[in-house]
Order: sequence, then structure tokens, then C-alpha cells
Amino acid sequence: MDKYIFFKQDALRPSNEQLLDTKLFYLNAGELYRRFDDWKDNDQFYFIPLYMEMTYSCAGIVAEIAPDPVWLGSFITCILEHPDMFQYNCPKCGKVVYPFRYVGSPLSGTVHLEGRCECGWRGVKEVSGWRIRAIALRDQIASDKLRYRIFRLLHPMGGASTVEGLHEWLRL
Ligand SMILES: [Zn+2]
Repeated sequence: MDKYIFFKQDALRPSNEQLLDTKLFYLNAGELYRRFDDWKDNDQFYFIPLYMEMTYSCAGIVAEIAPDPVWLGSFITCILEHPDMFQYNCPKCGKVVYPFRYVGSPLSGTVHLEGRCECGWRGVKEVSGWRIRAIALRDQIASDKLRYRIFRLLHPMGGASTVEGLHEWLRL
């Protein structure tokens, strides 16, 4: 399937547990970014599925930045490797903010990068360029697909961990 079809495809609804696990990422994203080097080589953590519902809906058109689930490692890699597109400075203290979620409109092209700063600021930064960000994230997911296939071959019975499992491993 073409990875650049932005209209929402039929997808299974995530379970409540999956949604709660994704919320745990929203709450603790800063720590997971900071310690990315500790866990990024561990496939069970890299391929934790996030159900972020990065969709935009208007007049019956539903478009999505990337279809759920988005792998945790792919999401973070994308944000770290494209500082010009995804990182910004905190309006309160000036430190770099790494967003934990973004949604926007393919019609207007705007994107809201939702993030939280170490100083306590939490909010969104509005930028333009919906399509280039959607492409960057989809390209990252596509480039991780081979690694994912190998992971599944090596672990046919067990899948990825959860954000909660990663927390326990990192002793957060
Ligand atoms: Zn700040």
C-alpha cells in the first residue's frame, strides 16, 4: 500500500488498555526522550505501539498524519532527527521542547505540536507544513519495517512491550 495515502483507512479501534498505555507516554515523554540511548536498541521497546489518533476531520474528510499504531521508537527517532520540523523552544524558559503528539489540518497545513517542558510549561506550538511532517513520520516508520520483520521472526510468540513495561525497566 502507498505509504502516502493520507485519508484514513479502515482501522481497528484500539482497546482501552492500549489508549491508557499511550497516555502514559504523553505523561512521561520527557524521560523517555532523555534516556532514548538506553532503550532504543531493544526491539521490544522500540516497537511499542502507540495509538495517537493523529487524525484530522472536516466535512466528512478524515486525514491522518500516520495510521495507528505508530511505533514508539520510530516516533521519537523522527522527532530527534528532524529538529527543524518538530522541536521548538519553550516560550517560558527557552529550553528545547520535544513534542509527544501532533495533530493538524491537511487543508490549512497547520500542525499543533503538543509538548511539555522541564520547567513545567505545557502547551502547543502551531506551525505550518502538515504534509512534510506526515511524510517525515511515514518515512521513518517505513525505514523501520525491515527491523520490525526481523524482530517478529525472532519472536514469533511474543510481541512488543508496553510503555508501562518500559517504565518498569527504566525504573521510572
Ligand atoms: Zn520551559
